[in-house]
Amino acid sequence: MLDTEVITKERSHSVTFPSKAFAARSATSGLGPFTIERRTPRAQDVQIEILFCGVCHSDLHQVRDEWNAVMPTVYPCVPGHEIVGRVVKVGSAVKRFKEGDIAGVGCMVDSCRKCPSCLAGEEQFCENFMTLTYNGEDKILGGVTYGGYSDSVVVDEAYVLRVPNGLDPAGAAPLLCAGITTYSPLRTWNVGKGQKVGIVGLGGLGHMGLKFAKAFGAHVALFTTSPKKTADAVRLGADEVIVSTDNAAMQKYSGSFDFILDAVSADHDLNAYLQLLKLDGTMTLVGAPSKPARVSAFNLIMKRRRLAGSAIGGIRETQEMLDFCGEKGITADIELIKIQQINQAYERLLKSDVKYRFVIDMASLR
Ligand code: NAP
Ligand code: ZN
Ligand code: ZN
Repeated sequence: MLDTEVITKERSHSVTFPSKAFAARSATSGLGPFTIERRTPRAQDVQIEILFCGVCHSDLHQVRDEWNAVMPTVYPCVPGHEIVGRVVKVGSAVKRFKEGDIAGVGCMVDSCRKCPSCLAGEEQFCENFMTLTYNGEDKILGGVTYGGYSDSVVVDEAYVLRVPNGLDPAGAAPLLCAGITTYSPLRTWNVGKGQKVGIVGLGGLGHMGLKFAKAFGAHVALFTTSPKKTADAVRLGADEVIVSTDNAAMQKYSGSFDFILDAVSADHDLNAYLQLLKLDGTMTLVGAPSKPARVSAFNLIMKRRRLAGSAIGGIRETQEMLDFCGEKGITADIELIKIQQINQAYERLLKSDVKYRFVIDMASLR
């Protein structure tokens, strides 16, 4: 009863202001200019002028409705969940942010705050489902949430991150998704010194996975389908680079890995990697291809191997990751683009042609 009352009251918040954005009108339209409404900040809200927004492959999956079976896309869709910007207004109850601060917003902007996952600080697994930054249910204004391909965003301060001073704000934007999505599983499975770790796919997530696995002290191998990325992979922290299409090279590593993180965006054979794990080794999927994978039971049975998955990370861990990056000076390697180049950027993502994250300079929208 109380919940209904709260929601009704919240939905009555109807004061909004217009914000410029880029949206897809359908799965095949590409993205173009669009105007959205943002709520004026409530007491607990932070209004952020967006400076930079990273381009995640999830944006492409969602815009093209490739996840229709699990998360159908509501159009118009304004993607973007790697947001860094400047705080321009705060509500009267906001304690952690003030005007002028550089702040970040990742993949979620709210959750129920009451379920065991929320109470444990793992809001990404909220039993009542987190409110996604875009294509989520906007419980305050009604309708759908709109993401960071826009000039401003208004978010409850509990879901806003502090971006450490000294980190380049454009290079820090991808930390809000690619960063936490790779940091969290590497921490969960205690990756570190003395372990041999594989990262599959050198894209936005993969290159952050390499940097973190290296920073945690592991011996790191990169699996790639793009031999021309070898030198970059070494520069980014790989101790070894294995071209995954070379079967003979893959066989040499049979049964030798403690942990493998799979960050591939398209359909591929998981069995080729599972057989590289040692006894009790784990392979964790963060890549989310639209097509279900086929797994040979024998690849798991024979060495008691585990196949797992991981979704972004909670707010507390995201802040921990940002602070870790602040201490170590870790940011993403980016290609800065104008919003008008977004459709070409998506085409390049599909060709695995990115070094290693596109970030939109939102000044191009103003
Ligand atoms: P990305 O930048 O496009 O990188 C994907 C990489 O996968 C490519 O650069 C390529 O690396 C490799 N690849 C592409 N097609 C392949 C194929 N057919 N076979 C083998 N390898 C292939 O994508 P991203 O932004 O890092 O995202 C990766 C995936 O993670 C997406 O599916 C995305 O939706 C998902 N994701 C999941 C979460 C989560 O919470 N679990 C969060 C964010 C993103 P090489 O050239 O090195 O082979
Ligand atoms: Zn993402
Ligand atoms: Zn919850």
